[in-house]
Amino acid sequence: MTTVGFIGLGIMGGPMAANLVKAGFDVVGYNRSQAAVDRLAEQGGKAASSVAEAVRDADVVITMLPDSPDVERVALGEDGVLANAKAGVLYIDCSTIKPDTARTVAEQAAQQGVRALDAPVSGGEQGAIDGALSIMVGGEAEAFEAASAVFDAVGKTVVHVGKAGSGQTVKAANQLIVAGTLELVAESIVFLEAHGVDTEAALSVLNGGLAGSAILERKGAGMLKREFTPGFRTELHHKDLGIVQAAAREAGVTIPLGAVASQLVAALVARGDGALDHSALLKLVEELSGRS
Ligand code: NAD
Repeated sequence: MTTVGFIGLGIMGGPMAANLVKAGFDVVGYNRSQAAVDRLAEQGGKAASSVAEAVRDADVVITMLPDSPDVERVALGEDGVLANAKAGVLYIDCSTIKPDTARTVAEQAAQQGVRALDAPVSGGEQGAIDGALSIMVGGEAEAFEAASAVFDAVGKTVVHVGKAGSGQTVKAANQLIVAGTLELVAESIVFLEAHGVDTEAALSVLNGGLAGSAILERKGAGMLKREFTPGFRTELHHKDLGIVQAAAREAGVTIPLGAVASQLVAALVARGDGALDHSALLKLVEELSGRS
């Protein structure tokens, strides 16, 4: 049995770890708040009380943490993954972080004989629960192949997209598309409501045509009901759009619509709605239209 040390058991990490247990892995989990660790133990995993304890006997270590500084601390810190994992471990970071941080982690891991992959995911909380995530993986091909059983337990579309950091670059593009699409879906809903159209019927037919999308399908109904429980917290999307804008500047490309979407997400955070689902962009569109 392969032992997986899993750090970060939040909205995404919790169900991912549970799916690894279901697939037969021996999962040892650690999270900063205890309730999530207890939940994993109830689901058949083992509880650890530190990063060191979670990774000590692991063959594979997975982190699913909020942001780049969290991964730097947990992966590279004194009490972290590299300092405590056994030689030859496979380290997979599934968090969404800066591509250059992913490259730094991979370089430091390689110096210690640890194979590292950046493997950010898409598919949201439901995708994590269903074990149906899209996973974009950067790193060495051999490490990607070694991780296949782990990826199969949590993902459906798993693609090796290039060297270390590439997974994060592809994820940045994912977040650009999601933010822009969400904003246009929000604008369409406010537009349809202003015209007194049956919005449920409208979204259903729109989703059958070229305007159809996973965003419309998964977020549309909740937006009509003003149901903004995350899901994906707006403040995390704000973090991701910072990564997108920096990466676009670095590459010398312009992303005009992405810049607007990024400012709207920033405004949503600034007005105190960062903890709501990112589909709460609808609230902002309503306000801008004098309809809140
Ligand atoms: P979350 O805040 O629900 O989970 C993060 C977890 O990490 C929390 O339980 C927190 O207690 C824990 N944590 C933070 N620092 C820690 C530390 N030092 N040691 C141990 N545990 C620590 O966030 P999430 O929604 O699960 O997102 C995780 C990552 O996945 C983010 O990078 C996010 O951008 C990305 N992501 C999220 C979604 C989504 O729909 N929620 C989808 C795709 C990708």
